Amino acid sequence: MKKEVNSELMDKIVSLCKRRGFIFPGSEIYGGLANSFDYGPLGVELKNNIKNLWWKRFVQQRDDMVGIDAALIMNTRVWQASGHLENFTDPLVECKKCHHRFRKDLVEGNKCPDCGGELTEAKQFNLMLKTFLGPVENDESIVYFRPETAQAMFVDFKNVLDTTRRKLPFGIAQIGKAFRNEITPGNFIFRTREFEQMEIEYFIKEKDWKETFEMWRKEMQSWMTDELGLKEKDIHELDVPDGERAHYSKKTIDFEYDYPFGKKELYGLAYRTDFDLKNHFKEPPYEDVEAGEKLYPHVIEPSFGVDRSVLAVLSEAYKEEEDRVVLKLKPRLAPYKVAVFPLLKNKPELVKKAQEVYHNLKKDFSVAFDDRGNIGKRYYSQDEIGTPFCVTIDFDTLENGDVTVRDRDAMKQERIKIKDLREFINGKLI
Ligand code: ATP
Repeated sequence: MKKEVNSELMDKIVSLCKRRGFIFPGSEIYGGLANSFDYGPLGVELKNNIKNLWWKRFVQQRDDMVGIDAALIMNTRVWQASGHLENFTDPLVECKKCHHRFRKDLVEGNKCPDCGGELTEAKQFNLMLKTFLGPVENDESIVYFRPETAQAMFVDFKNVLDTTRRKLPFGIAQIGKAFRNEITPGNFIFRTREFEQMEIEYFIKEKDWKETFEMWRKEMQSWMTDELGLKEKDIHELDVPDGERAHYSKKTIDFEYDYPFGKKELYGLAYRTDFDLKNHFKEPPYEDVEAGEKLYPHVIEPSFGVDRSVLAVLSEAYKEEEDRVVLKLKPRLAPYKVAVFPLLKNKPELVKKAQEVYHNLKKDFSVAFDDRGNIGKRYYSQDEIGTPFCVTIDFDTLENGDVTVRDRDAMKQERIKIKDLREFINGKLI
């Protein structure tokens, strides 16, 4: 069954993001820059929480993985060897009437989405973003911003191997920006020309590709449901057919998610064979000492978009209840873990105590402080940005050393000793 497109929900998410400081239109005071966005104070926390969780799970907690952080601009010969200069293209069509341009496979029907005019035949349009490096602007100084983080893992393969003495199977991971001169960007942060990826190149022997592919398929599913909190029913696997896969891939699964604007690709998992290492290294870069042979490892690539993760998480978390809007974020993803309130703003002893609790909690968590309006309004304000716990300091606190802790989802309150707060919050950070 085709899910309905919920553009009203999308508008509400975009408006909340702007209003509460998650995501702003880029360069806004100069009229903006088409499809560019800036993460604000709360957005950067949410995004960093996702990236940190990913790094911890896939790099630090595994013993078959190492990380790198490579330059965004690489030698142009990298892109010749990888095939991107020749093949990293999308089909472009132009309207014969209004001359607007579109990516052919994103146009429904064969008419111009803007004016209904006739479209031209498709031309291949290269998505690499160009610039010049150095003080001379000529053909020799043209360089490209990377369109994927992946190539650095291949180009640095030998350096990583020599410095870490890894044995197959092992992976190299990276989080960083990628750039694509998308023909038809859109849907807020879903498709932009500058975005972030979290990618793994997992090196194996050829014979192991099927079971390794399966292992990563399960890992990706578990990441989406257990860490991001997405619902299984909203995630769909698409086995990308021959002829539609990227030029390097022998098998690809797209993980699609039911965004408010429809079912669209969230992540990809590809079997890149030995295509990349063969293109970059004249000699096999890996020596299997036990077998006494040199070989080109094969590669399974789980690729995660950061911005598409943020958008999926926000779409899942956004809920409208009777008299409140609440982001039901997993506590570990929430920008603030806890908010601290003095019951009354005009009682210096309450404010002082609240400040003390606030500064103490800040040593371990990201914490908000709010003393404006009544407590009910402060709760709702925190609900809207997904803060899982609110702590209120009242007159009993001064007597007994305990505070009221209110839970975002259950909307229930309980009394907890100040000295136990840290442990309480830590225990809830799932
Ligand atoms: P699409 O078909 O949507 O253009 P793709 O198949 O070209 O995507 P990949 O090359 O597999 O995407 O890139 C890996 C991941 O990077 C994607 O699954 C997605 O999460 C993210 N990604 C790719 N392009 C963009 C973009 N323009 N904006 C935001 N994220 C992107």
